[in-house]
Amino acid sequence: MNHYAPTDRAHAEALDAADPLAPVRDRFLLPPGVVYLDGNSLGALPAAVPDAVADVVRRQWGTDLIRSWDANGWWDAPVRVGAVVGRLIGAASGQVVVGDSTSVNLFKAMVCAVRLRPGRGVLVIDPDSFPTDLYIADSVARLLGVTVRRARPRDLDAVLDDDVAAVVLNHVDYRTGELLDAPALTAAAHRVGALSVWDLCHSAGVLPVELDAWDVDLAVGCGYKYLSGGPGAPAYLYVNQRHRAHLDQPLTGWHGHARPFAMDDPYEPAAGIDRARVGTPAILSLLALEAALGAYAGVTMTEVRAKSLSLTGLAITLADAFLAVHGVDVVTPRSEERRGGHVALRHPRAADLTEALDKHGIIGDFRRPDIIRLGFNPLYVRHTDVHDAVRTLRDILTAE
Ligand SMILES: *Cc1c(COP(=O)(O)O)cnc(C)c1O
Repeated sequence: MNHYAPTDRAHAEALDAADPLAPVRDRFLLPPGVVYLDGNSLGALPAAVPDAVADVVRRQWGTDLIRSWDANGWWDAPVRVGAVVGRLIGAASGQVVVGDSTSVNLFKAMVCAVRLRPGRGVLVIDPDSFPTDLYIADSVARLLGVTVRRARPRDLDAVLDDDVAAVVLNHVDYRTGELLDAPALTAAAHRVGALSVWDLCHSAGVLPVELDAWDVDLAVGCGYKYLSGGPGAPAYLYVNQRHRAHLDQPLTGWHGHARPFAMDDPYEPAAGIDRARVGTPAILSLLALEAALGAYAGVTMTEVRAKSLSLTGLAITLADAFLAVHGVDVVTPRSEERRGGHVALRHPRAADLTEALDKHGIIGDFRRPDIIRLGFNPLYVRHTDVHDAVRTLRDILTAE
């Protein structure tokens, strides 16, 4: 494509010059002098958000007051924003609701899954899942009187039987960046009559997710990582439409009622995806997320994935060239089919190195015990950022 060696900075510059997503970077407000490689933990600030939030606060809240629930679409926001998230995760409308945290939605999803499979007594979960997934699974099991079977995805077939109600998996491993084969694992769960529950926190927004096409049953994900909705942005819950009418949601708050303003007793779930709602949503955060999602306008997930693989591929090439001699290992799978949107590097002094990078304006993060995690949001990270980060890490290691 060009005449530079892949390790030259000019190579990274040429890739950026040919990048169709390059203009999308202007949809974010990034601080000067910083290379931000932690957008998989807290997405950067989208340029549309400050004014949108100011409008929600000053005009909608300040002036329109309680009328905003109708006049400014507050009441419908969880389902309206859910439809926008749905476009990023391959969900036709009416299956996604936004609100509550990922942890709360995991609780809802796991309880719903067990209740959708009465008579089955086992919840299967990957021991390498994000800790909150494991903690919630244990509590759901105690609450519902089922047991948890921990198994890695590659060992799934050995633990699947007709007592399994659901299989709970993280689509991309938050530490290693390994991407699982969601359609195949979903099919494996279905073969024994179990449901599949996917946690999309580290995949949605950075690679193609096709929940409907993959026949996934339930899924959850974060609003503040790749979706860049801001600190504490609400999460989302996907319920495949075939389960909607039978969904027995454990948190039966009034926003999930068929007629919330009738103030009727007892509870009667709404017919649509609204039944997955709980109580009054955090409107400021929810509408900040809605504005943030505008950064995806006109962008296809195919383009995002192509750039993501280019960024992570460059990071791996440069790590092999410059860091391996200093004892840094690439933990993230090298094969593109198994690689998510971030790259994990292993070094015994990963914590110190992450801190040293930070002093040079390169923000990544450290995951115990020995991982430097570099997240590349293709909407705003450039190939030159990847190059500069790896070269800086080499300089730090060389100076020691
Ligand atoms: C970030 C993350 C969460 C976070 O849950 P919160 O309730 O938002 O704190 C859960 N699961 C996974 C896989 C994550 O990466």
